[in-house]
Amino acid sequence: MSPMPSHPASVSAPSAGPAGASPRQRLAVLGSTGSVGASTLDVVARHPERFEIVGLTAHARVDVLLQQCLRWRPRVAVLPTEERAATLRAALAAQGVATEVQVGAQALCDLAAAPDVDSVMAAIVGAAGLPPCMAAAYAGKRLLLANKEALVVGADLFMQAVRDGGATLLPIDSEHSAIFQCLPEDRRAWAARIDHIILTASGGPFRQRDPASFDSITPAQAVAHPNWVMGQKISVDSATMMNKALEVIEARWLFDLPPERIRVVLHPQSIIHSMVVCRDASVLAQLGTPDMKVPIAYGLSFPERIESGADRLDFLKLQALSFEAPDPARFPGLQLAYDALAAPAGSTAVLNAANEEAVAAFLAGRIRFTDIHRVNAGTVDAFVLRLGPARLLDDLLDIDRRARAAARQRIEELAS
Ligand code: NDP
Ligand code: MG
Repeated sequence: MSPMPSHPASVSAPSAGPAGASPRQRLAVLGSTGSVGASTLDVVARHPERFEIVGLTAHARVDVLLQQCLRWRPRVAVLPTEERAATLRAALAAQGVATEVQVGAQALCDLAAAPDVDSVMAAIVGAAGLPPCMAAAYAGKRLLLANKEALVVGADLFMQAVRDGGATLLPIDSEHSAIFQCLPEDRRAWAARIDHIILTASGGPFRQRDPASFDSITPAQAVAHPNWVMGQKISVDSATMMNKALEVIEARWLFDLPPERIRVVLHPQSIIHSMVVCRDASVLAQLGTPDMKVPIAYGLSFPERIESGADRLDFLKLQALSFEAPDPARFPGLQLAYDALAAPAGSTAVLNAANEEAVAAFLAGRIRFTDIHRVNAGTVDAFVLRLGPARLLDDLLDIDRRARAAARQRIEELAS
């Protein structure tokens, strides 16, 4: 059984705070300069009595991290290189801010597991987020998971870490949060209740574009999502529907469901965020405006609910809600999730690695939009029979490394 939070009591105890003040949840935001990171700080800013920011981390946007440190005064900030850290240290010193600036992947893990952190928002993009997620899981934190790639790569090892560490795993991805919100708090009741789940998908910017013209899609067109404002990588994933493929794999582990009980329906308005079809044919759905602040606020406050800052849904102004089946010829990437889940363990890590490399190459203008699927399908095919068992995080990271090398080779061939 996957360790979702049937026991809210397992949430780490909040800090006592100063005498007379109410206890606050002490939060580390990994990937604070990104889209989910910024939305998290937006929700937190509405509830200063409930949350305290202990750590913030970034990769390239040192200027954004500086502004966040000036605003939140965290104990620690993390960057990937000494050079960027030195820039931030100097700017903070000039402002008299005492935040300690740490460097590298180990510093991310140390922050995720730090004793003065109750909750970790995992909002790094890509497999780079897996080690700190595992560290938070082993340390028994309340883990708010936006970083779906970590679960796609980590699979059962990640869930085992959550169980072993007694962590509380809360989904932030809007579809998985929707499913979670439709289910009873006691996860032991889930299996008896669920017939199947339906993940909704907007279909992205190319739902109606002629597939014959997909070769000429530019990065700017691919990142222009019709309903959601998101980081570049997930925006491209939404255009290929690889995002939904990753979400099928994510749902398989979060809800402990076999792939055939995870279905995908296109719903272009992005109002219904996903659904649970119960054993008695009743359907439970979660609705709202497409704004990540809603699932973020739910993750932050579970099992309570707090103001998120999102616009309310106005039913009287709603257009008709429509649904369609995803066209496999237009979105061939979706099937890769089901194929990888049926293939030897580790295949989902290969698929994720190939996709990260392919999306980066497409954004850099090196390969065409349609090449993303060629790289993904080709890399998984080439790897399936070569996968050994992954018992440790290092085994997964090794699969990730080798799959990236193979994907890069394929990219070179396509780019030349
Ligand atoms: P962004 O690209 O906007 O932000 C990514 C964050 O991760 C940034 O803070 C970035 O730092 C940091 N980062 C990037 N690469 C690394 C690295 N190698 N090591 C450490 N940190 C790194 O992404 P999003 O906020 O859109 O997405 C974050 C995660 O949440 C993804 O897994 C995505 O799939 C998931 N998600 C996002 C949704 C959304 O609406 N945006 C919805 C549902 C899920 P810097 O900015 O300094 O470079
Ligand atoms: Mg999603």
